[in-house]
Amino acid sequence: MTAGTAPDELVFVATSDIAARTKGRAMRLADFDDGTSLGWVPANLGIGPLGHIVDDIPFGSHGDLRLLPDLASRTRIDGIPGAHPVTIMFADLVETDGTPWSACPRTFLRRAVEELEREHGLRVRCAFEHEFVDMAETGEHHPFSFAGFRRLEPIGSELMTILDRAGIEPETWLPEYGQHQFEVTFGPTDPVTAGDRAILVRDIVYDLFAAHGREASFAPVVSPGTGNNGVHVHFGLSDLEGRPIAYDADRPGRLSALAGSFAAGIIRHAPALTALFAPLVTSYERLRPHSWSTARAFLGVQNREALLRICPTNEIDGRDPAPQLHLEFRGSDIGANPWLLVGALLRAGMQGLREGLEAPPLVIGELDLDGAHRELPRLPESLDEALDCLLADDIVTGWFDPAFLATFEAIKRDESVFVRGRPLAEQCEVYTRVY
Ligand code: GLU
Ligand code: MG
Repeated sequence: MTAGTAPDELVFVATSDIAARTKGRAMRLADFDDGTSLGWVPANLGIGPLGHIVDDIPFGSHGDLRLLPDLASRTRIDGIPGAHPVTIMFADLVETDGTPWSACPRTFLRRAVEELEREHGLRVRCAFEHEFVDMAETGEHHPFSFAGFRRLEPIGSELMTILDRAGIEPETWLPEYGQHQFEVTFGPTDPVTAGDRAILVRDIVYDLFAAHGREASFAPVVSPGTGNNGVHVHFGLSDLEGRPIAYDADRPGRLSALAGSFAAGIIRHAPALTALFAPLVTSYERLRPHSWSTARAFLGVQNREALLRICPTNEIDGRDPAPQLHLEFRGSDIGANPWLLVGALLRAGMQGLREGLEAPPLVIGELDLDGAHRELPRLPESLDEALDCLLADDIVTGWFDPAFLATFEAIKRDESVFVRGRPLAEQCEVYTRVY
C-alpha cells in the first residue's frame, strides 16, 4: 500500500457464543450489500473460553451455517488511537436456506422478546453495567475518587466519546470500589440491542486499554480479595404502548402484582439459571455473602446483596417514579453471553407470569443471613453444582435446543476439569487471560 493511503474499511459480521467471545468474519465494507451473508460452522459453538472445540459435542466437521447480518445492528467503531475505524454488524445464525438455526444465542433472545410481546403484551427495556479492572495500574486506588478518574485520562473521555459516536448511549464512567476497578454504564434499549451493546462495550474497552499500553479484565475475580467484577442487568417492563406496568404505590416495594410474578419466575428458577449467568469456575468466588454480590435467590428493595434488586427512583422536583421503577439482576458476570442471559431472564419471568406466581418475599433493609433471612434459597456454590441444577430443571432445559444444551454442558464440564484443581490465584489468571 502506498504510504499515506488509508486501508479499506472492513465490516466484521459477528456472533457471540457460549463462551461470550465475539467471533465472526470480516470483508470489505464496499463489497457488503443488504443481501450479504457469510459462512459459519456449527462446531464453532463448541469452542469454550479456553479456545478449543471440546469433545463430545453434537457437532462435528460436517455442516454449514450462514451469519445473516441484522442491518439494524450496524455500528461504526471509530476513535481508538492507532486503530482503523471498523464497522461491526451482529448476525443471527441461520441454516444455508435462511431458516433460523435452533442453537443461535441471538435468536434465543429474539424469540423470547417476541413471545413476551405476543403472549403477554409486554415489552422490556434493558441496560447493562460492566465492571472491570485496569490490570496495568499498581498505585494507590481510592474508591470513586477524582484521582482515580484523572489517573486514567484520557481513557475515560475517549471511551465515552467512542461509545457515544457508536450509538451506544453511554451514561456513566466511574472508578469503582474494587482495586483499580472501573465501571461503565449505558442507557436502556430493547433487549437485543442491549445485548449487542454489551458485547461492543467489552471489545471497545479491551481495544482502548490496549491502545494505551494497558490491559482491562472483566473476569469476576481478578485477584482474590481485591473486589469482584459483576455485569448487572437493569430491566423495566411496559405494555405495548410503552405505559410502565411495574409500579404500584400500594404494594410492598411498590412493585406491581404483574412485575412481582415476573420477578417470582426468576427467583424460582434462579438455581437452574446460575450456570447461565455465572458460568465460570471463579464466578462462585464472587457469588458470596458480604461482597455486594449475591449468594441467595431473593428480591430486595434497594439491597445490593439481592439477586434481584428493586432500584430506587429519582423523585427530585416531583419526578414521576412510575416509569422509573425497575429491577436490577445482579448475579451475572462476564462469562455469560448477554443474549443468552437476557433471554433466560425473560423466559423465567414469563414462566412466573404464566403460572401467575405471587411476588416473592421481599427483603427490606439489611440482609441478615444468621437471623431473619436464614431460610432464603441458596444458589449453587460451584460450576458443577450449577450445571446439575440446570439439568435438573425441566422448565429451563425446555427453553433450549438439546444440541445447544449438550454443547453448553460439554464446554463447562471441560472447563471445570481444567480450572478447578488449581490454586485460586491460578484459576483467576486463567480467566483474566480470556476476559
Ligand atoms: N462489584 C460488585 C459485584 O461483583 C457490585 C458492586 C456494585 O456496583 O454494587 O457485582
Ligand atoms: Mg458497580
